[in-house]
Amino acid sequence: MSRPFRIGLTGGIGMGKSTTARMFAEEGVAVWDADAAVHRLYGPKGAAVEVIAALRPDAVVEGAVSREALRAWIAEDAAALKRIEAVVHPLVQNDRAEFSALTEADILLFDIPLLFETGADADMDMVVTVSCPPEEQKRRVLERGTMNEQALERILASQMPDAEKRARADRVIETDTLEGARDQVKAIVAEVREKQDA
Ligand code: ADP
Repeated sequence: MSRPFRIGLTGGIGMGKSTTARMFAEEGVAVWDADAAVHRLYGPKGAAVEVIAALRPDAVVEGAVSREALRAWIAEDAAALKRIEAVVHPLVQNDRAEFSALTEADILLFDIPLLFETGADADMDMVVTVSCPPEEQKRRVLERGTMNEQALERILASQMPDAEKRARADRVIETDTLEGARDQVKAIVAEVREKQDA
């Protein structure tokens, strides 16, 4: 098989990235999930445990990185986030490289919230962003009940604006309805496979 086609999937929080990634998986696309990779790295025996312990011993609790402790550290120390990212980012990159090397599929999809912000878009053959109106985004995130409006505003301020993601992406999937999004996913997969067969 020739080199697989690489799709980068991104989108603002709550805009339907995970849901859309699952739709690609249902079409036979192999999916790598950046958030899941971080979870593995932070978990027991994960590769990030040792490097985080070296930075901040009390951020490791019962052999795993405590997100709560990291959040507390970030809240009290303006330099913390950069220091954490500097050690975790290369480990995430390794995980992604390993997936790319070991996965046999015609299409690989990389689900990466900060795709543009980290420069990972440069490694992709196609970049797709999911998008929905901002009021709908807010409604979806608050409905989860895991964060309040203030926390959401902070996250939004740290992410690239939706308009810029839309402008930079090769394709935009509108996530107004599940059926509509599924049709757009199918169309993209068909287009890529057609090109591969040509
Ligand atoms: P993200 O991974 O971008 O944070 P999720 O995939 O978890 O977002 O979706 C956030 C919410 O939006 C969920 O409640 C999900 O059911 C809903 N949603 C996602 N995609 C669609 C869609 N295409 N149409 C309608 N609702 C959607």
